[in-house]
Amino acid sequence: MEELLRRSEKLTTVGQLAAGVAHEIRNPLTTLKGFLQLQQEKQILVPLHIELMLSELERINLIVSEFLILAKPQAVHFQEKDVRDILGDVVSLLDSQAHLFGIQFSATFSEYPSTVHCEVNQLKQVFINIVKNAIEAMPDGGVISMELRNTLDSVFILISDQGEGIPKDMLPKLGEPFFTNKESGTGLGLMISQRIIQAHKGHLEIQSEVGQGTTVMIKLPAAGTDTPWLNIKDERSEGQRE
Ligand code: ADP
Ligand code: MG
Repeated sequence: MEELLRRSEKLTTVGQLAAGVAHEIRNPLTTLKGFLQLQQEKQILVPLHIELMLSELERINLIVSEFLILAKPQAVHFQEKDVRDILGDVVSLLDSQAHLFGIQFSATFSEYPSTVHCEVNQLKQVFINIVKNAIEAMPDGGVISMELRNTLDSVFILISDQGEGIPKDMLPKLGEPFFTNKESGTGLGLMISQRIIQAHKGHLEIQSEVGQGTTVMIKLPAAGTDTPWLNIKDERSEGQRE
């Protein structure tokens, strides 16, 4: 019964998503159709119209490619990987773009490995989404700091910016599909990131203060947490209690 309930909830979410995608894609399609009809009937398209059509096409393309990330089970390959390496890759990837906006990265990583059991490309995607949001929140430049903290069974990743921040009443809406306050945003980045982190048995939380900045905190299970070594230790501590 519970399984049925869970499955129907899942279906509802998928249904809502599909309706959202249809809506988001139909709008630019309507614009494109309008321009093409205008051209067919009156042949009056000018370069500005073409530019608008291209940007509408680009929007459809963006929505579709963000969705492909969700629908690619064949590419999933879990492995043990140090989060410091993944973050390092993300910084190299976005460094030049950040530089253009006067943004610098500051990284405080533990000297110990922060190994997690993960799908590297998916985690990379999560960090890219979050860092991109941080860059977009600081049009006048600033610092994006990344911090890694290890506990015995978890790895904490904190990514902070000094951007505009998020109003309190907006916080609960983050991660809802298509929720965006950007002109060319899709409102899909955080939703996809939340799902990826959930699939990694982790947790994603956002703290923000308007005018101060935003911190995204991700908690992931440390790799090897359920190794025999730890089980033995658990048994012993139970034994001691008796
Ligand atoms: P998009 O970036 O396409 O708008 P996201 O899902 O990545 O979609 O983000 C949704 C919304 O959350 C953004 O439009 C923005 O309003 C808010 N947001 C996310 N990250 C930040 C941040 N670091 N600073 C300020 N606002 C943010
Ligand atoms: Mg985004």
